[in-house]
Amino acid sequence: MSHPCLSCGACCAHFRVAFHWSEADPFVGGRTPAALTEQLDPHRVVMRGTQARAPRCDALAGDIGRAAHCTIYEQRPSPCAALQPAWETGTPSPQCDRARQAHGLAPLTPADWTGLAEIA
Ligand code: SF4
Ligand code: SF4
Repeated sequence: MSHPCLSCGACCAHFRVAFHWSEADPFVGGRTPAALTEQLDPHRVVMRGTQARAPRCDALAGDIGRAAHCTIYEQRPSPCAALQPAWETGTPSPQCDRARQAHGLAPLTPADWTGLAEIA
């Protein structure tokens, strides 16, 4: 059994991912690659691809609902780090549910995490 996000990726192709420009500016300690962002307003940038009518982050690799992963996982911006997969820590996640539903995927359940800790 692998981490449910690795066979999903739906949230990376559903929301506009906007965050403060400093997260993509190495001169002030930002880690997200600036080349993968674009300006949204004077204070915020977005991950490229997530403003589209059918959003899909440029940093996402793979096929949604089959095998997908973030190519900049360690440098992903704060909204991505904040989005919790449903039931990973025993709590629901309406954002996760909404993104999965938009891609025709059933919401995660607590059972999706059973056994994961043992093999991690
Ligand atoms: S929608 Fe939920 S399960 Fe899918 S990648 Fe995002 S957090 Fe993970
Ligand atoms: S930066 Fe990574 S985690 Fe965030 S939306 Fe893009 S692919 Fe998903």
